[in-house]
Amino acid sequence: KGKRAFIAGIADDNGYGWAIAKSLAAAGAEILVGTWVPALNIFETSLRRGKFDGSRVLPDGSLMEITKVYPLDAVFDNPEDVPEDIKANKRYAGSSKWTVQEVAESVKQDFGSIDILVHSLANGPEVMKPLLETSRKGYLAALSASSGSSLSLTYIASERIIPGYGGGMSSAKAALESDTRVLAFEAGRKHKIRVNTISAGPLGSRAAKAIGFIDTMIEYSLANAPLQKELSADEVGHTAAFLVSPLASAITGAVIYVDNGLNAMGVGV
Ligand code: NAD
Repeated sequence: KGKRAFIAGIADDNGYGWAIAKSLAAAGAEILVGTWVPALNIFETSLRRGKFDGSRVLPDGSLMEITKVYPLDAVFDNPEDVPEDIKANKRYAGSSKWTVQEVAESVKQDFGSIDILVHSLANGPEVMKPLLETSRKGYLAALSASSGSSLSLTYIASERIIPGYGGGMSSAKAALESDTRVLAFEAGRKHKIRVNTISAGPLGSRAAKAIGFIDTMIEYSLANAPLQKELSADEVGHTAAFLVSPLASAITGAVIYVDNGLNAMGVGV
């Protein structure tokens, strides 16, 4: 029987989440998606109108099916956590049950259980600001949205200085990598669940474009990485499929680089 995967953080067909969903679907998994509430409408409309059909094609020629799209805001655990202004916001009022606990309950009700959980989301409201100028609010928001989970996406800014990756996002990724190790221990001992994170190289996704320097990072990688080619989202998707598959049954608590080897360089060349 195929496995069931929930991938949080898909709102278009450009990002890592979409590529991961495709790789998992190609390997036979059933795909459930968690989409950020404000992006839900446009994502579902585009899906329905066939805007993504070209990028839904799997290696066998069939189209990836998404069994269900759940509205999700990963920053709130339950309705009590949601402030009034968000509750009243038009883009939120149209959807319901989008806090983390409610989504988990809905998935449980709909399907019983899942086998694979992927966290492919991030949000740093002050990502354009240096850490030195980041407010407490912006910093905590970055950590709140951007850390935690079973398979996740991280970035080397957690361990090396990447000027421009601000607003506490570097801290959020450092927390994510640390949590990956501790959760690997706790979830491994308690439930035999494996927890890993992929440290991905630069991709011109919607989230990355919001940071502003993504084109420079892609050029830098092309010029300096051991493998001089553009990184495709599929390469991260394939690694994700491997990591959540039985082929990776002894891998947990790991940060796996999928970055054309850029992390191994000590200086630019
Ligand atoms: P993306 O825009 O495709 O994905 C980010 C998603 O997060 C979006 O769909 C957005 O709607 C969603 N989101 C934001 N706040 C949310 C919230 N509170 N609740 C639920 N969803 C929320 O961009 P991406 O670059 O593919 O990002 C996926 C992951 O990859 C992120 O963790 C990112 O940090 C990581 N990553 C990206 C790069 C890169 O260069 N693009 C490099 C390394 C790591």
